Amino acid sequence: SMERAIHADKLSMIGQLAAGVAHEIRNPLTSINGFIKLLKDSQAKEYYYEIIESELKRIEFITNELLILAKPNAIRFQKTCLRHLLEQVIELMSVQALMSDVEIVCEWMADEIFISCEPVKIKQVFINLLKNGIEAMPDGGVINLIALKENESALIQVQDQGCGIPPDQLAKIGQPFFTTKDSGTGLGIMITYNIIHHHGGTISIESCESAGTTFSVRFPLKEEVWSTT
Ligand code: ADP
Ligand code: MG
Repeated sequence: SMERAIHADKLSMIGQLAAGVAHEIRNPLTSINGFIKLLKDSQAKEYYYEIIESELKRIEFITNELLILAKPNAIRFQKTCLRHLLEQVIELMSVQALMSDVEIVCEWMADEIFISCEPVKIKQVFINLLKNGIEAMPDGGVINLIALKENESALIQVQDQGCGIPPDQLAKIGQPFFTTKDSGTGLGIMITYNIIHHHGGTISIESCESAGTTFSVRFPLKEEVWSTT
């Protein structure tokens, strides 16, 4: 089992991001260009329209994901009941979990945990983590969601029994566009990291190949922290 904290050197991240965006958007653009040329004298117009449409959707999806990153200052903090928030997330993910035969089991090691956050953004964090957990268990299994208080932090762990992450890939998790999935964007963990970072929190991964992966997310409990931001 290997553990590492996810953090990012800002400058190298911007460079990687720019290169990644250019690459990810150039591919569908090149293909759209090609198919538009083919359309001019083709019988199979419908087929080409479909490809063009799906390539445009991919560009739209990627730019939407990137726009989330571009608005870090818009956070409106409010006192939020973590349990209530996580229950809403589980509800949102229940259909996808059911379809993959995954059960999400919650363990509350504290009665009430309140954090200062923008709920929509923190929901996005746990949607991303649960989605990855479900995708790591194509044959089903259990995801444990554990919430507790640890020192001055709220600690939330998302624990799956999925494929795990090979040690040589662990350092790449969270780099823009790093994905091992055919239809992945490789933006989920980076967006997750960014949201957590802007809330004064941390995220780390621990993974054991073919045994499972645990993401640990920590948020400060003290509300004074936010009075200066
Ligand atoms: P995407 O899900 O689109 O691939 P992410 O940024 O969410 O992008 O994840 C990046 C990569 O990290 C995934 O492609 C996968 O290889 C790895 N990963 C993330 N979460 C898990 C997990 N729970 N189990 C195994 N691998 C994971
Ligand atoms: Mg993902």
